[in-house]
Formats: sequence, C-alpha cells, structure tokens
Amino acid sequence: MMARHMGDTSRLIRSAAVRGWRMEFAEVTCPTCFEVFEVAVPPPDELPTEFDYDCEVCCRPMLIVCAGDDVHAKGLAE
Ligand SMILES: [Zn+2]
Repeated sequence: MMARHMGDTSRLIRSAAVRGWRMEFAEVTCPTCFEVFEVAVPPPDELPTEFDYDCEVCCRPMLIVCAGDDVHAKGLAE
C-alpha cells in the first residue's frame, strides 16, 4: 500500500484546502540524500518560479523548480 514512494521518480500533485486557500503540494526527491518529501507549491499565477528549500531529512539546501505541473529539486552545488 505504501510502496508508491519506492523508486518512483514521477511527481505527484495533490491539493488540500487550508482555511479556504487551495494549497498545492508536490513530491520532490532531495538531490543530496534522495529522500522524497512534499513541498507546498506557489499559486499557479506565480509559476514558473524557483525557490530555496532545506531538505526535511538531511537539511541540505536545494532549489525547488516549479514550472506548471512539473516540480523538481535541484542541488545548489550543480
Ligand atoms: Zn536530503
């Protein structure tokens, strides 16, 4: 049931209503430790965009690149 994360490189976009605001979340893979976690995606009218984010697992900084429904993480050292 929980095996979806195993080796899955595709992005999952889900939505959640938070106090009337529709939040978008995307799964990204940390370029440093390769753990998968969710980040909140900015509203569609602010896309495409990039923002800095610290990995929730290893705390290394990365760049989250959001372009439409494609969301992925890039290492800052690349
Ligand atoms: Zn990490």
